[in-house]
Amino acid sequence: MVADVLVVGAGIVGCSVAYHLAKLGCRDVIVLERDTVGSGSTGVCAGGIRQQFSSEINIRLSIESLNFLKHLEEETGRDPELRQHGYLILATDEGQLEAFRRNVELQRSLGVEVDILSPEEAKRLVTGLNIEDVLGATYCPSDGYADPHSVVQGLAEAARRLGVKILQGTEVGGIKVEGDRVAGVVTDDGELHAPVVVNAAGPWAGAVAKMAGLDLPVRPSRRHIFSTEPVFSSPDPFPMVVDFGNGFWFRREGPCIIFGMRNPEEPEGFDTTVDWDFLAGPLAEAACRRIPFVADLGIRGGRAGLHLDTPDKNAILGPSELEGFYLACGFSGHGFMHAPAVGRVLAELMLSGSTELDIFPLSPGRFRGKQPAGEEYFI
Ligand SMILES: Cc1cc2nc3c(=O)[nH]c(=O)nc-3n(C[C@H](O)[C@H](O)[C@H](O)COP(=O)(O)OP(=O)(O)OC[C@H]3O[C@@H](n4cnc5c(N)ncnc54)[C@H](O)[C@@H]3O)c2cc1C
Repeated sequence: MVADVLVVGAGIVGCSVAYHLAKLGCRDVIVLERDTVGSGSTGVCAGGIRQQFSSEINIRLSIESLNFLKHLEEETGRDPELRQHGYLILATDEGQLEAFRRNVELQRSLGVEVDILSPEEAKRLVTGLNIEDVLGATYCPSDGYADPHSVVQGLAEAARRLGVKILQGTEVGGIKVEGDRVAGVVTDDGELHAPVVVNAAGPWAGAVAKMAGLDLPVRPSRRHIFSTEPVFSSPDPFPMVVDFGNGFWFRREGPCIIFGMRNPEEPEGFDTTVDWDFLAGPLAEAACRRIPFVADLGIRGGRAGLHLDTPDKNAILGPSELEGFYLACGFSGHGFMHAPAVGRVLAELMLSGSTELDIFPLSPGRFRGKQPAGEEYFI
């Protein structure tokens, strides 16, 4: 089989790239997915969308993606269930507060409405929030969350209507290289030929890059989301709350609270079993400190998925050193919120060789030589 473009991975990133390619007129696109659409990190994720980042490129990707989601239903027929209840980010030391002031200036200069709040103002937004150790916070009311399942299925369905083929249950086991350029992929169902291949394999992008002889500086590791039993009887929303220092976060999901936190002890790997000891230890401690009333709540369930982190916590986006082989991976905890814009940017880059966004800070070649500044909002 021959195509113009092959995309490895039908998560939110692969589906967005395929949709935008087709929308721009490149319809001979095949997406190869070893499992089902959205079955990787996308299917596990919390759906958070924030414009509060420390770099211009990440803020711009969020702004564009949020606008895209507001029109997703017109564009794809699927309601993304976008809820703009805001993100409240808490600082517990002077250094964090100083960084917040600097970053808020940048965010505002790009048109994001974000406020710096006193601890008391933060507490007014979230009943039961413990602000004992909080020095200040930032609050962006237009941040929020959407339903990852609806968004990824919407993009996949719209891509299919434009002619894209999505081959589920098809694993890529090799990348075909001819001379100094990519020539296709080898799957468990045979070979496919194309002059362009996109690595959108999410946490497994390092392994797919290796098939093309490339060594990506990426690290997969497990992240959790737990849910309390129902606690709210009124519909009053409150923002997604993030403890900037330790990465503990929580938000409302229907009548329950969902929450998680990065684990600094988490080893590199692909384990997605739920670590109940982590919940009972450091996570419970962080949760009970920030929202003490959760101590009395039962846990309804938990799930775990994978992040793919890079050394500077920024994604890897653009052409690799192998001609025709593109990378769209390493999105850490912000791949869902950036995927709509990433798909558009990468599709333009592949079809016309340029895009108006300056994506140099995400370029695959940036790790050679002097390391660029990293993303400070690593949640
Ligand atoms: C617990 C948790 C919470 C998160 N919360 C948020 C959040 O609130 N907001 C946010 O923006 N991001 C969040 N993220 C991150 C987000 O989920 C990811 O950045 C995003 O889903 C990455 O999308 P993707 O398409 O690159 O990867 P994936 O969704 O993992 O898709 C990659 C696909 O590639 C397929 N694949 C891999 N290898 C092969 C192969 N060899 N052949 C064929 N197919 C292959 C996989 O089966 C998979 O379906 C969270 C992640 C986790 C784990």
